[in-house]
Amino acid sequence: MMTEKKDIIEERYNKVLGRIAAAARSCGRKPESVRLVVVTKSQPTEIVQAAIDAGARILGENYPEEAVEKINTLQVQNSVEWHMIGHIQSRKAGLVIADFALLHSLDSYKLAAKLNRLAHEAGKRLRVLLEFNVGGEESKFGWPAWDEKNWHSLVPGVTELFRLENLEIKGLMVMPPIFADPELSRPFFKKARKLMVFFAENIPVIEWNELSMGTSGDFEVAVQEGATLVRVGQSIVGPRQYSNRGKP
Ligand SMILES: *Cc1c(COP(=O)(O)O)cnc(C)c1O
Repeated sequence: MMTEKKDIIEERYNKVLGRIAAAARSCGRKPESVRLVVVTKSQPTEIVQAAIDAGARILGENYPEEAVEKINTLQVQNSVEWHMIGHIQSRKAGLVIADFALLHSLDSYKLAAKLNRLAHEAGKRLRVLLEFNVGGEESKFGWPAWDEKNWHSLVPGVTELFRLENLEIKGLMVMPPIFADPELSRPFFKKARKLMVFFAENIPVIEWNELSMGTSGDFEVAVQEGATLVRVGQSIVGPRQYSNRGKP
């Protein structure tokens, strides 16, 4: 790849880190309390390598086959952590067990049960976040959580998930509607944070530590509202590339 492109990715990566740090300080948080997941879905391995060379240590992927292929090609498993952030069909659960340090997008009991069984067979524990739909959009995955009045009805299901011994619930993930103005995301991030506090009070046996929220358009607002993991793609690696043909 052209050095120029590598330099651009490094510059953007450092810029995003700087913006995360500034957003954290602006609300009295330590910059280290927020980790950056660089989202590389649909990007070729050269771009992923450039992100790693720039300093990225957590890479987020959406599609299991694509991710596993990149992981095998790059052979950098020890220096970086791979996170699965996309919706997983339960028949693809097997692809998540071996290579991923954290699944952000656990969104059904069926998937959870299958992952639990496969993790058990592999002699592993898989760390997961539970995905909730706080925006109410029908197109979005995640357990329904847009209406606070119904939060109590989520408790038995989450308690069931906790009983799956080879899964380790670390917190929650949300993907609210995308707005041109990041301030419009704020109420959804606030709601996610409040939902996490609700679970911490109602299911204290789980340590609710991780809150995954915020993308290129609104990660600073997410940090101000308590994100511990932000998932940033385009602002670092550029527009998504659905085909590699003809690319430098
Ligand atoms: C693609 C994606 C992101 C990153 O979005 P950008 O706009 O590229 O920053 C974050 N989270 C999820 C779940 C995604 O699918």
